Amino acid sequence: STPTDVVMQRMLTVPDFPSKGILFRDLTPVFAHGPSFRAVVDGLIEPFAGKFDAVAGLEARGFLLAAAAAIDGGVGVLPIRKGGKLPGDIIGETYDLEYGTATLEVNPLSLPAGARVLVLDDVLATGGTINASISLIERAGWTVAGIAVVLELEALEGRQRLAGREIHSLLTL
Ligand code: IMP
Repeated sequence: STPTDVVMQRMLTVPDFPSKGILFRDLTPVFAHGPSFRAVVDGLIEPFAGKFDAVAGLEARGFLLAAAAAIDGGVGVLPIRKGGKLPGDIIGETYDLEYGTATLEVNPLSLPAGARVLVLDDVLATGGTINASISLIERAGWTVAGIAVVLELEALEGRQRLAGREIHSLLTL
């Protein structure tokens, strides 16, 4: 079965989480099933073979994907962290959420200048999170090799927000 099949077979849909009116897509059972997790990780990086020097994962579910993909692709893993978690001379990007703001951070010393970074996360919704991550990667002196997500929520128009970027999603809803 294809990576898309395994996501459709095991993904759960939870109404009213984390707040009323939100239809939350829970990929936990996909990742918890060994053959499905392998299929998903292989499927995420497949279009970018030979084109990236590191894989960045967005806290927290992106960490799971990025660590596995880094081993799969024979490169290193870079965690893009929520504000206040990293030591040293870090750079940060603050972006708007539906309610309030969030900050993501990275240390520019983590990778050499010019490194090609593949960005992974579980879900692309409005694109705000990935957009902030792209800004950080470019401010750090690296380039974005591409973006791969397990699930793209089309109605939230994240793809439009990330215009001009190569985005690979295993399933679009
Ligand atoms: P965005 O910034 O609006 O694109 O939201 C994407 C971030 O929110 C990602 O880090 C996702 O993990 C999380 N997210 C948004 N919607 C869902 C969902 O339905 N299921 C799981 N995570 C979600």
